[in-house]
Parts: sequence; C-alpha cells; structure tokens
Amino acid sequence: MANELVKLGGRIFERSRANKISRENGTTMIETLSGRVRAKDVLITCGGYTDRLVPKLADSYIPISTYMVITEPAKELISTAIRSTSAIGDSRRSSDYYRLVDNGERILWGGMITTRQAEPARLGILLKNRMVETYPQLASINIERSWSGKMAYAKHLMPQIGKLGEGLWYCMSFGGHGMNTTAIAER
Ligand SMILES: Cc1cc2nc3c(=O)[nH]c(=O)nc-3n(C[C@H](O)[C@H](O)[C@H](O)COP(=O)(O)OP(=O)(O)OC[C@H]3O[C@@H](n4cnc5c(N)ncnc54)[C@H](O)[C@@H]3O)c2cc1C
Repeated sequence: MANELVKLGGRIFERSRANKISRENGTTMIETLSGRVRAKDVLITCGGYTDRLVPKLADSYIPISTYMVITEPAKELISTAIRSTSAIGDSRRSSDYYRLVDNGERILWGGMITTRQAEPARLGILLKNRMVETYPQLASINIERSWSGKMAYAKHLMPQIGKLGEGLWYCMSFGGHGMNTTAIAER
C-alpha cells in the first residue's frame, strides 16, 4: 500500500505523531513534534487511541484488550489436534482465533476480550486453558510467549466513519470487525 501511495505522488512521514489539529484560513493544520503539515482534507485513521488529539473521538470508543499466545515448537503433538493450515476462528462474541505458524511447529492463538487496562496475571495460563478446552490433547503443550494489545470498539459496536467538520474526516474503531474491514472502509 505504501509503495502504491508513493507511486501516485503521496508522501509518507513516519515517526511523526500528530499532536494537534487545527483549522486556519480554510486549511487544516497538523502539528507534530518536528514539523507541521497543511492539508485541505485530513482523515484520521489512528485506530482509536488518539488521546486528546480530537476529544470528541477519544470519548467515542471503549478500550478493549485482547490477548495472544504462541506455543513452544511441538509439531507432532499439534498435528494430533490441528491439521488445517487455514486460520480458524469460532463464533463466540469473545472468540478464539488461531492458526499454525512456523510450518506447523507452533500455534499462534488469540482470544478473550476484556475492558481491563492491565494485562491479567497468568495470561498465558488463561489462554492455554481455552486452548485445552477446545483441544484436550494439547494439555501438555507449553506457552512460549504471551502478550496483549488494545483494540478500539465504538460504543455502538460499528466502525466509526464520518466527517467532524470542514476538512476533517475519521475512519476508525474497527475492533471486532477485522483488519479486512479497514481496507474496505477506505473505499
Ligand atoms: C492483540 C491483537 C490481536 C488482533 N488480532 C486480530 C486478528 O487476528 N484479525 C483481525 O482482523 N484483527 C485483529 N486485531 C484488530 C486489528 O489489529 C485492528 O482492528 C486493526 O489493526 C485496526 O486498523 P486501523 O488501521 O484502524 O488502526 P491501527 O492498525 O491501530 O493503525 C493506527 C495507526 O495510527 C497510528 N497513530 C495513532 N495515533 C497517532 C497520532 N496521534 N499521530 C500519528 N499516528 C498515530 C498508530 O501508531 C498506528 O500505526 C487485533 C488487535 C490486537 C490488539
């Protein structure tokens, strides 16, 4: 996507967090630590965590944490439970989603959603328990690493796409809808 954008004449400025957005003489001004960008139209696609950049947006979503683990390499054991190389997800509201990685050596497993800001203690064990509920034959597998991240869910649970004012648009809060919808929304 970045390559296509550059081919079309776009410019990308990495490591330039937008700290302030204001409107001056018919254009929108974005201030970063080291510079300013002036634009006719600004589209905010910051996931959800914009702090007070646009206070109205900061108040519009619920921070939801979600959790991931990766198992130790255990190809033989894993193949007794999962043989598909496809991504798998169940249909619970707080669903589990997982797939084989490293050529079937490991399982990358995601699941649980909470509104907690802090990572739960024993996160790996919590997700491992969910894994074993689904595949009891994986009871002896070890979790090598676990981590969490925050998704943005809008209060109405649908993505937020719209216009805040002249020259200021937003497209965010895709938590629970999948990365695919972010690209669809861009159209
Ligand atoms: C642990 C975890 C697991 C997930 N698993 C899946 C999954 O398996 N499948 C799936 O479909 N989705 C998954 N998601 C959800 C998915 O990652 C998000 O829905 C998706 O990334 C949202 O895309 P986005 O482009 O709206 O925002 P993001 O991908 O969050 O991108 C926003 C960007 O804006 C930047 N930004 C923020 N503030 C500023 C600022 N002030 N100035 C400049 N830049 C800024 C951020 O640095 C970031 O690069 C998961 C999320 C988490 C946290």
